[in-house]
Amino acid sequence: MNVIAHTSQNRPPRTPPACPRCAFDPATCDRHTAPDLLRDTTTDWQHVLAGPDVTRSCAGTPAWTVLEHGCHVRDMCLLFRRQLDTMLGEPRNIAPSSEVTNSPTRYCDEDARQVAGELGRAATALADRLTALTADDWEREDPRLPDLRLTLGVLTRHLLHDIRHSLHDARRGIRAPDARTATATAHPQNNEDGHG
Ligand SMILES: [Zn+2]
Repeated sequence: MNVIAHTSQNRPPRTPPACPRCAFDPATCDRHTAPDLLRDTTTDWQHVLAGPDVTRSCAGTPAWTVLEHGCHVRDMCLLFRRQLDTMLGEPRNIAPSSEVTNSPTRYCDEDARQVAGELGRAATALADRLTALTADDWEREDPRLPDLRLTLGVLTRHLLHDIRHSLHDARRGIRAPDARTATATAHPQNNEDGHG
């Protein structure tokens, strides 16, 4: 059992308000709701990755394309599951996911349909892992981090906000004129893609 003495130094941070841009509300994300929030957002991301505009720039920063953001979301799910296992010690008795192997270095060279499938597997494995968390697990700190208030619950909310926020930016980018195309037309010397 994980016993935490909530002194002023390690008291969990106050839950922030809903994000004014993507409307993600951390107060609605707890260990009971987090798995379905992840599954639902992943389904939305897969719809976006199946669209015709995956090479269009997203709104916001970094100035990645929809495809590049999709790759990043997939990798965040994979990395967070590993971090979760590290924070909780021995992995639980849950079947491993088919993790990404032989992935190209550059996000922009990846295939959107393949990324959507990999994202689905990574997010499903993570959602299953989140479903198995106990109340004590949710309050567990990561001793490797300098701020012990960053419990597993806080980090999970950060992750889900990142995924939802990037989805919001991707959709805005699809609806808006492609900023990089417009910039390249006006300033041909700036037609460089520094992301990958
Ligand atoms: Zn947001």
